[in-house]
Amino acid sequence: MKIYNTLTKKKEEFIPIEEGKVRMYVCGPTVYNLIHIGNARPMIVFDTVRRYMEHKGYEVNYVSNFTDVDDKIIKKAIEEGVDASVISERYIAECRKDMEAMNVKPATVHPLATNEICGMLEMIQILIDKGYAYRAADGTVYFRTRNFKEYGKLSHKNLDDLQGGNRSLLVSGEDQKEDALDFVLWKPKKEGEPYWESPWCDGRPGWHIECSVMSKRYLGDEIDIHAGGEDLIFPHHENEIAQSEAANGKVFARYWMHNAFLNIDHRKMSKSAGNFFTVREIGEKYDLQVLRFFMLSAHYRSPLNFSEELMEAAANGYGRIVTSVENLNYLLQNASAAVPSGEEEALTGELDGFTAKFDEAMDDDFNTADAISAIFELVKFSNTHAGEGSSVPFLEALKGKIVELSGICGLIVEKEGELLDADIERLIEERQAARKAKNFARADEIREELSGKGILLEDTREGVKWKRANS
Ligand code: AMP
Ligand code: ZN
Repeated sequence: MKIYNTLTKKKEEFIPIEEGKVRMYVCGPTVYNLIHIGNARPMIVFDTVRRYMEHKGYEVNYVSNFTDVDDKIIKKAIEEGVDASVISERYIAECRKDMEAMNVKPATVHPLATNEICGMLEMIQILIDKGYAYRAADGTVYFRTRNFKEYGKLSHKNLDDLQGGNRSLLVSGEDQKEDALDFVLWKPKKEGEPYWESPWCDGRPGWHIECSVMSKRYLGDEIDIHAGGEDLIFPHHENEIAQSEAANGKVFARYWMHNAFLNIDHRKMSKSAGNFFTVREIGEKYDLQVLRFFMLSAHYRSPLNFSEELMEAAANGYGRIVTSVENLNYLLQNASAAVPSGEEEALTGELDGFTAKFDEAMDDDFNTADAISAIFELVKFSNTHAGEGSSVPFLEALKGKIVELSGICGLIVEKEGELLDADIERLIEERQAARKAKNFARADEIREELSGKGILLEDTREGVKWKRANS
């Protein structure tokens, strides 16, 4: 598996720190509003990376934070006359709903910045003790950037160019910095803002320190993959590297992955210019699986343009996969042959070839566009070879493969709750057989699976009867 590493500007073979395991950190959103479709891009892209790694047999420890203390959250809280936590809790809940609707799996851990202040105080103290940070007169703690010799290695920036560029950025209150390149680790409280006590002043953390601390706490000093949108390369990720490597004395992350931006009508998304959509708004017009399909139809490192036409094209593409599964379900409902023909056996043998094509695309830095092409070839294969006389095992093999490969992309192509009568009858038969064999665990599992899909079973003297809960 090859991953393009922003750090080395090369595609590199993925070698995990610990065999069979992946430690992955993805910078999450600042929660002061409903997430927009730009925020959805890293969520969908890195969820797909995670799912693919799981498909390859890795156990993925996936950590993604919510930034719940920030100027924008505080501003909104003041406008509404509520506590900042009211705002962040509200938008975390909304964000989770959007994630679920896009079939983005919850992270193994979603830490909140405000729960990790202790860890931040500890890391800042270590940085001060090691000479990498200092307290200015007003209590602000700055990172002493020039002391971290490798600063600029991720963004491939030269310190002296930065110095020139940053000098003009010196704003009032920042003149107490030793150097224009130094950045904030801890800052003094302002009237009406949330704050925490610290050895330097009552205040709150800078943004960058939270990711260094949460990544360390949940994944350890060294991690495999650190990811986010490309706007985070500088300064956010550059600063995370400086903090973590200076404090821990170890290489922070081996692979740095960054998704390119999502634009609208070829322009940067901007609220003031009116070209801005929340995931919620798109969900009112389209199935969010279409949004997911749209995002994955381009390579994650290519800029992606959002437009009505492209969403219509995505709706068609996604629809083709869904229709092929519906067609297979229809055929399954009427199929009678229980044994595949010799020809069907040979065709079933070809199915692994589609997985190989799919994996080949994904192994090449997660080329989801080509992986989706492999799914389309499979759909075409299925549409060509499945028909009225097809056997049940053959139809199930086709359907299983389409659902499996789509599922690795996180695409739901068979809607839950739409179990067809034939599927239900088959599961009931399997349950009866399990009971006969005294495999009660499996029998219960089937009952639960059916009830989860709204199918209620009733054991009667004449046998098992079933009905749909909503009918
Ligand atoms: P933020 O809440 O601004 O910190 O953003 C959360 C995540 O969304 C970060 O990984 C950003 O890089 C990413 N992001 C924000 N806007 C866009 C966009 N237009 N296209 C792609 N990614 C974006
Ligand atoms: Zn971060």
